[in-house]
Amino acid sequence: MLDVVPALLIAVALGAALWFFQRRLFGPAGSRPRAALRLTAVILVGLALVGYGAFRLSKARGVQLAGELVTHVDTDEKVVALTFDDGPQPAYTQSVVDTLEAYDAKGTFFVIGNDAATPPDSLRALVSAGEEIGNHTWSHPRLLAISQGAIAQEIETTDAVIREAGYSGPIVVRPPNGKRLLAAPWYLWRHGRTTVMWSLEPDSIPGIADDPDALVTYVRDNVRPGDIILLHVMYESRSASRAALPRILEALAADGYRFVTVSQLLALRGR
Ligand SMILES: [Zn+2]
Repeated sequence: MLDVVPALLIAVALGAALWFFQRRLFGPAGSRPRAALRLTAVILVGLALVGYGAFRLSKARGVQLAGELVTHVDTDEKVVALTFDDGPQPAYTQSVVDTLEAYDAKGTFFVIGNDAATPPDSLRALVSAGEEIGNHTWSHPRLLAISQGAIAQEIETTDAVIREAGYSGPIVVRPPNGKRLLAAPWYLWRHGRTTVMWSLEPDSIPGIADDPDALVTYVRDNVRPGDIILLHVMYESRSASRAALPRILEALAADGYRFVTVSQLLALRGR
């Protein structure tokens, strides 16, 4: 359980710091009961801070304890990468591909291995349309406090399904819900894999997610060159995202944007 390591290290450092400061603030405890009380208080405050810190770190978009992490690429070129999480579902895959095609766009689809494999027709449709395929794990678990063996299973079985569908491009990885602490980044770092997060997630914002107009306006108002946009279009409940997709493409194309895959975006780094 690798995720315990950073929490323990932070806890020890924090405990020492808290102990030092309480002595500076209040002086020596004087009696044993008072010392015990102070120690308990320090431990409780420390645990609360460590828990909060680990929680924030596990969902931080721009910080990771190991391995390469990308949320956005700095570039002057007006390009964005449209990324689609979960699925692919047969009910929606072809229409999403057709919509992208109409705007000369390629997307990056972070597929769930289990969904992609049963049956693999939707994944094959994505591959033959020339879309980029990313790995979103086999069963969409929270990659927290998870063993290296379990992570390997999640990642490698999904890779195998993607390759069996005929995909030969690079396979970047996106942890489910963006959640990771040390276990997942450690595994991905050891295997030279890139973690790809996102810089805009319009359909995760309450009040916007169910309104196609609001989704389009939000993206248009907030987009910057090199952004990675996350949309969920593979669930029945996400009709607003599907309705917004052609209009987002239309609006950004009108603003001079081109639509590239994540790998094409990554290739612009340092240029
Ligand atoms: Zn997901």
